[in-house]
Amino acid sequence: MILVLKRGITREKVEELRAWIEATYGVTAAPIFGSDTTVVGLIGDTSAIEMPALEMQDAVERVMKVSEPFKRANRKFHPDDSLVRIGSLTAGGQRICVAAGPCSVESEEQVCGIAEAVATAGAGMLRGGAFKPRTSPYAFQGLRAEGLMYMKKAKGATGLPVVSEITNPSQIELFNEFVDVVQVGARNMQNFELLKELGRLRKPILLKRGFSNSIEELLMSAEYVMNGGNPDVILCERGIRTFETSTRNTLDISAIPVIKRLSHLPVFVDPSHASGAAWLVEPLAKAAIAAGADGLIIEVHNDPKHALSDGQQSLTPEQFAALMERLRPVAEAVGRTL
Ligand code: PEP
Ligand code: MN
Repeated sequence: MILVLKRGITREKVEELRAWIEATYGVTAAPIFGSDTTVVGLIGDTSAIEMPALEMQDAVERVMKVSEPFKRANRKFHPDDSLVRIGSLTAGGQRICVAAGPCSVESEEQVCGIAEAVATAGAGMLRGGAFKPRTSPYAFQGLRAEGLMYMKKAKGATGLPVVSEITNPSQIELFNEFVDVVQVGARNMQNFELLKELGRLRKPILLKRGFSNSIEELLMSAEYVMNGGNPDVILCERGIRTFETSTRNTLDISAIPVIKRLSHLPVFVDPSHASGAAWLVEPLAKAAIAAGADGLIIEVHNDPKHALSDGQQSLTPEQFAALMERLRPVAEAVGRTL
């Protein structure tokens, strides 16, 4: 349930209403002060609340029922786009954020070298996996804590904030110390115990869509994090499984406008994992920007042929720099900067 408040209502009146609702109905009332409207979202069991009792309140303009199961992630609860701050970067604003870097951190030299190159090319963030969720137990599993240390060193050298994937709640302390954005990978999108723990963290979460999950399921996973107290969630479309075998996954371009209609959260796109092929990264990145993506995650490796994971979809630093140049006019065409 959402209460749209009358224009010009004071913060004191909003606070009075919030306290009254919580005391009377035992639900959480979350006020959101937008650019031109203030709304109060009711979260919890609202089935016993009679709409007229709320409509009669002085501060209330109108009451709307929310049919979707996600509340905090719902655009109806938060009509303005959410901005997620990552150091001096803002996800969800006019500037598109590009996170670039290797699939896996392989050594200090490797990640620092790539970080310098992608920073020069205009990336805003460094990506790099340290805990790798691999399909095969025989494949490279990542440098784990050591990898996160190298990410932090690369941040020190370049100033780029870093994003890396967490795979287990036991790693939270480590991530809190070493990374700026905590990534939840496709395979863990519905690891609800992990999501609940991340709700207690005061760091942005980059939540990737599971390859067999619907948009509503993605938003419900965001809801877990937000309901735990962490509003800073960035969603990421990274391709889904379909019958098509020509590409590693099928990039669901329509997910971008669909999510933006349903939710206020920033939406990133990962054309590297969506396609599984370096040559497809550019057209998919362009399409993502044209469709309204707020950010991109792109795999870049100094020596893709010998990468310990995902070399086939990784760009060289030179290819990445060229890509950035070709993406700029696309961003400008849709009123964004890169
Ligand atoms: C990754 O970003 O390194 C990754 C493993 O992606 P996904 O979870 O989307 O497969
Ligand atoms: Mn990868």
